[in-house]
Formats: sequence, C-alpha cells, structure tokens
Amino acid sequence: MIMRTANHEAGMCLIVLTHEHADAVLGLDDIRVVQPFSPTNDIDPTPIYLSEEAMNSIAVKFPYLVQKKLKEGQEVRRVAQLDWKIIENDCKKPFVASGLELVPLPVMHGEDYVSLGFLLAKKILSPRIHDTVQQRSTARL
Ligand SMILES: [Zn+2]
Repeated sequence: MIMRTANHEAGMCLIVLTHEHADAVLGLDDIRVVQPFSPTNDIDPTPIYLSEEAMNSIAVKFPYLVQKKLKEGQEVRRVAQLDWKIIENDCKKPFVASGLELVPLPVMHGEDYVSLGFLLAKKILSPRIHDTVQQRSTARL
C-alpha cells in the first residue's frame, strides 16, 4: 500500500507493506522509477513499514534493496532507496508514519494466511479484503 499524505507535496510519501507474498512485494523493485533520479542513489529513502517476518523474507528475495553499503569492487546500480521500518504485528501497538497513526490488524488473506491490514482514519485498508469477503459470501450461496 503506497500512501501520500496531505503534508507531502508531491510524489510518494511512504509504503506500508501488508505481507511478503509476491502480490505485495514484486513492485518494490520498480519504486526507483517514482523516486528522484540519482546515479549514485544519493536520495532520501522512502520509508517502508513492514513486519519482521516480511523483512526477513525480502532480505532473501531482494538483497540489493536491503544492502546499505557496496561491497568492495561492486558497481553502483540504481535501485530503490528504502528506509526499512519494522513494526509489530500487534493491534495494541499503533505506529505513526508521516503524521498518520496506523493500527496493524490481522486480516485473512486467501483461505489460510493472516496478513496485516491497517486501521487508518476509521477505514480498514488491506490487500484484497473485499475480494476475500466477496469470495466467502459467494461460496455460501
Ligand atoms: Zn498475498
């Protein structure tokens, strides 16, 4: 979920990652397209909020997005610059991102996977929650 807040004039403000499935993370590589250009990656990183479980998965899938420093002899590649912020999967521990308070909530994603949804301004935002609810409603008919 990419968010732009009223106090951010242009561009992307922050990313809140709901889970580590491909449907949620495969676009991370393309974030660089909407970030300011710098051949040396010297830009302000976009904050990205995610669970520790998602962070561990992404570190394996996209090590170049997590790596902070170049290894000796490694060439600079333009990659998305992200500021990884681990959040707790606990609805009693809301967090503030760019002036907004978000409450992590467990939501079913598919048949048996618990993802994170977020309570924000009295609306619950989650991946495909409407699809999931609709599928279950249809299945009961
Ligand atoms: Zn998924």
